[in-house]
Formats: sequence, structure tokens, C-alpha cells
Amino acid sequence: MFFRRRARANREFRKAQQEGFALLQRLAQEPSPIDAAQAEVPAAPAKSDAEAITPDFPPADLRAPSRRDVDGFMMRWVQPLVIDGEVRTCPQCGVYRDWIVFCMHDDSVWLRCRAGHEVRESGLDAAWYNRNSGPVDRYHPTLEEGLRHLGH
Ligand SMILES: [Zn+2]
Repeated sequence: MFFRRRARANREFRKAQQEGFALLQRLAQEPSPIDAAQAEVPAAPAKSDAEAITPDFPPADLRAPSRRDVDGFMMRWVQPLVIDGEVRTCPQCGVYRDWIVFCMHDDSVWLRCRAGHEVRESGLDAAWYNRNSGPVDRYHPTLEEGLRHLGH
């Protein structure tokens, strides 16, 4: 069961990548495209070659973080979250809407309610997250900044 699920997630993940989720690399230990590109850059490009790509481009602060650089991904999910026909409620406070949904390195998906209660949602996985989240457009240095940006 576990491996079937992983294989399915892998296939869907590759599909998602092709659709533009280049940041969502499957495994943290895979070299990022940026690193791979840098590895192919000559150590000492000829100075006369104005078109040479140097390792300093793009500047580090403009690079999108690779998957291994982040703890996970997060998005806001305002409407009720229906999984297998059931509306999910917070086991601690009972709310059923306005979640922050996390997708972590290990492909686990967690829900965080407005009150800050967090619970793992075994009915969802990384493939679901990738299907339902938009492109990664922002990197938050801390969880708190991410929550603030998402309105929690
Ligand atoms: Zn709660």
C-alpha cells in the first residue's frame, strides 16, 4: 500500500513538474536544476566571452529556493475541505474552514486551523497538494511570516 501510494505520487509529481512546478522536486537529495547548471559552467570562463554565464547569475537572492532549501510548502484553504465526501473539522476546536495546508518534505500534509491547532491529514498527500496549489510565488524565511502572509 505504501509503495503503491508513493509510485502514484511520483507519477503525478512528474506530471505536475511538466506543468511548471519546477520547484517541487521529488526528493530533497536530488540536485536542483540551478546546481546542475552551475556544475556545467566552466570554472574560469574566458573574459572575452561577454555571453558567458557566471556562477553569480542569477544573484542568490533572486533564485527561487530549491526543494531541499525549504521545510515545506503552504497555502491557505478558506473553503471547507472535503476529503472522501467528508468535511474536515479541527479535532480541537471544531472549525471546518479557513485552513492553512502544509505539504512537508516527507510528502505529509498537515492542516492548521485559525486557532493554530495542527493535525496531520492522512487523506491528502503531496500529489493532491500539487494539484490544488498554485505555482510557488513566494519564499517565507519563517513559518510565522508565511502564516502572516497567508492571513493567519
Ligand atoms: Zn482548531
